[in-house]
Amino acid sequence: MRTTDTPSRSPSLDLPERLGAVAVRPGDRRYDSVRHTYTRPGSPGAVLLVRSAGDIAAALAHARATQVPLTARSGGHGISGRSTNDGGIVVDLSRLNAVEVLDSRSALVRAEAGARWGEVAAALAPYGLALSSGDTGDVGVGGLATAGGIGLMSRLHGLTIDHMSAAELVLADGSVVRTDVEHDPDLFWAVRGAGANFGVATAFEFQAEPVRDVTVAVTVHDAADTAAFLTRWGAAVEAAPRAVTSFLTLVTGAGGRAVAQAMTVYAGTDATAVRTALAPLLSAGRVLRNQAFATPYHQLLPAGHEPQHAQQPLSVSRSGLVDHITPPAAEHITALLETAGMVQLRSVGGAVNDAPPEAMAYSHRTQNFSLMAATVPTLRDDLDQRWERLHPHLNGLYLSFETRTGRQQLEDAFPGAVLERLIALKSHYDPDHLFDNNFALPSVRFPH
Ligand SMILES: Cc1cc2nc3c(=O)[nH]c(=O)nc-3n(C[C@H](O)[C@H](O)[C@H](O)COP(=O)(O)OP(=O)(O)OC[C@H]3O[C@@H](n4cnc5c(N)ncnc54)[C@H](O)[C@@H]3O)c2cc1C
Repeated sequence: MRTTDTPSRSPSLDLPERLGAVAVRPGDRRYDSVRHTYTRPGSPGAVLLVRSAGDIAAALAHARATQVPLTARSGGHGISGRSTNDGGIVVDLSRLNAVEVLDSRSALVRAEAGARWGEVAAALAPYGLALSSGDTGDVGVGGLATAGGIGLMSRLHGLTIDHMSAAELVLADGSVVRTDVEHDPDLFWAVRGAGANFGVATAFEFQAEPVRDVTVAVTVHDAADTAAFLTRWGAAVEAAPRAVTSFLTLVTGAGGRAVAQAMTVYAGTDATAVRTALAPLLSAGRVLRNQAFATPYHQLLPAGHEPQHAQQPLSVSRSGLVDHITPPAAEHITALLETAGMVQLRSVGGAVNDAPPEAMAYSHRTQNFSLMAATVPTLRDDLDQRWERLHPHLNGLYLSFETRTGRQQLEDAFPGAVLERLIALKSHYDPDHLFDNNFALPSVRFPH
């Protein structure tokens, strides 16, 4: 495990009294527990444990006046690692973490950005409600809800942002807004996919779903014939009922043989329905181990609150969306394993593709899989060569699994008119580019 608790080289920042009262600066005994993220070490000049939108507005004004780098952080699990910095201000929302069921009959829920998805799941469970939000309870509400949210019930319930009915933000000029389809609808459109470019989100309202127990199958397959396995697994997932969502992790096992672990969730516990639905997935490849059990959904997402210390050594990550795992695509995905420490496929499709592409800034509504491949920094170029060969078989990009933040990534994430609309909105809502630390939108269209 990498240890990053090295002394900070960053000077402590001078701050106005209001911000000083919530700041953790170098030299503070708490500093080492708040400076880093899950993927990246950082040496910020101050981490502000903000308690209100007013604190955030003050932080934005100070960053603007002093020209220091500014970063928003919710759960610190951003794969791109941009929720810390060196020498700047981190607006840490972890204290804004309330989760409230506003109306249990209409399943209306409010979650503050600093809550973790495990806490959301636990808070909704007593009401028989859930939001499909990802596979990890420690991921923060703010980072995921401003980008997408591919969860363990995505084929049945769609993306997390498909359930968003309102968002509260502090904008670049310090104003506090609540946006929904009737209030600042352009902003609401942009927040759902490109939110980090437009402000610091403090809270969201969601329409949750009635969910009780689910069945989980954890299956380890021999995937030595990797491309053939992937093609069969992909076809089985696409043909499965929407109650089935499957996430697959491919690694190179002992003796260089590829091994695939599928975590498949069936939203329900009817044993016959589960067996019928999962049988085609199981037959995708020789089963080495299989364990299936029924569980309340929230128990799949414990929030451990492990301190972040750049604990993920696979800090270089590539992301793409795939319509179908065709044999050629499967060959190229297989080649990634020669250099990636981990290749993951998450099923989207189903209800994700019910939303019209123009509904929000996340516009990818034909794809069936989200693909990510991660490696160590020394193997970055090897991975990129293989990823380039795969690229023609991809259709779009989900920002949350990507560590490059350049033009190509923006164009893949926000195809065509989506990017043009986002660029125009960026000029309106963030004309001075205060929120540019992650996947920054430009001021003008890219030249052709
Ligand atoms: C172990 C692991 C498993 C994952 N599994 C899934 C999965 O199954 N499905 C899925 O969809 N994603 C998954 N992700 C990706 C995850 O959704 C993103 O990395 C997400 O951005 C993390 O949110 P966070 O609040 O923890 O991140 P942070 O590191 O706090 O933030 C990430 C970025 O989002 C922006 N941001 C954060 N908070 C705010 C805010 N309040 N307002 C505006 N911008 C903000 C910042 O620009 C920041 O750089 C996973 C990530 C990890 C590390």
